[in-house]
Amino acid sequence: MQNMSYKEQLSWKQKRVDILLSRFCRVSPIIGMENPLHYRNKVQAAFGFRRGQIISGVYQSGTHRIVPVDSCMIEDEKADAIIVSIRNLLKSFKITAYDEDSGTGLLRHVLVRRGFKSGQIMVVLVTSSPILPSSKNLVKALLSEHPEITTVVQNVNPYNTNLVLGPNEKPLYGAGYIEDTLCGCVFRISPSSFYQINPVQTEVLYGKAVGLAGLCCNETVIDAYCGIGTIGIVASKSAGNVIGIELNRDAVRDAVSNAKRNGVKNARFFCADAGEFMLEMAKDRQKADVVFMDPPRAGSDEKFLSSLVRLLPQRIVYISCNPETQERDMKYLTKNGYTAKAIQPVDMFPFTHHVETVVLMSRG
Ligand code: SAH
Repeated sequence: MQNMSYKEQLSWKQKRVDILLSRFCRVSPIIGMENPLHYRNKVQAAFGFRRGQIISGVYQSGTHRIVPVDSCMIEDEKADAIIVSIRNLLKSFKITAYDEDSGTGLLRHVLVRRGFKSGQIMVVLVTSSPILPSSKNLVKALLSEHPEITTVVQNVNPYNTNLVLGPNEKPLYGAGYIEDTLCGCVFRISPSSFYQINPVQTEVLYGKAVGLAGLCCNETVIDAYCGIGTIGIVASKSAGNVIGIELNRDAVRDAVSNAKRNGVKNARFFCADAGEFMLEMAKDRQKADVVFMDPPRAGSDEKFLSSLVRLLPQRIVYISCNPETQERDMKYLTKNGYTAKAIQPVDMFPFTHHVETVVLMSRG
């Protein structure tokens, strides 16, 4: 969206949310960023070849054609620099880039994540085979150029797949994860765990979400699609108890350790499909007062929504990065006894068409 001023981008996004959601309830003015540049704390580069040269960058939209990128105005500058260094080091270590068509070559992707507050940096080298020749020296060379790196992980993805990360990984240097602080809590983040990419706006978003939940003291709270437990752990301070549900095993492990790390004793985390887990809760006649839900772009599903309305929480706080699927799910909840009380868009992704919204729905 470089063709628009930041102000224009915000009104474009406001209009988009208005069109989709204003019939449920008034949409509050979108919260933008003071400085909307270099906000992405996670940078991912695909590696490949062009005319015999190794290139790294992003896929052209809808294709697997790599557009070379050395720096990008929305990405963390340090992360960009690390990726360029890795690309320049490959030749001297005789490491080839992966070629998707022939399935040959070694380095597929590099992922860099930087803790906004902690400054810790994780570099993940995604390779097609477990054998990474002279990995020790490669790490040494990389660290001498960027001593700020706190951990380097090799992830092995041997499959012909669109997924960036494969199932196996091993730390080459450091702990294998980084930590960062959000809303006063410390979070450990593993390579495959989801973590919001815009830390400044995440604090705004979580602040709104927890505020809208109107917790006072002893509520039972569900954090569905909880990732590493961020929302649940932040909310646990003002709730009776928290149940977090997440499908990704590594993220659940992070969530459990994060609760411990922050001295939170009233939160438990479960590795399960959120819909299935809540269906079991409903069958057991368990109750929840407040449900936070933060599903992926595709939104929620029938299983989740039907068990949600059976659990009968007083309030649902629905955080979404896709107002289209959110609108679909809100229609379902509206038909089943819930009313939208507040809609707050937050600009998590300046210079892109994406928009995040947090919606409060109450029973009755
Ligand atoms: N609330 C977290 C994570 C949101 S991203 C945060 O703010 O950081 C959505 C999360 O939903 C991802 O971690 C993904 O692994 C998880 N997920 C996707 N499908 C799921 C399902 N069916 N059941 C439970 N979790 C799911």
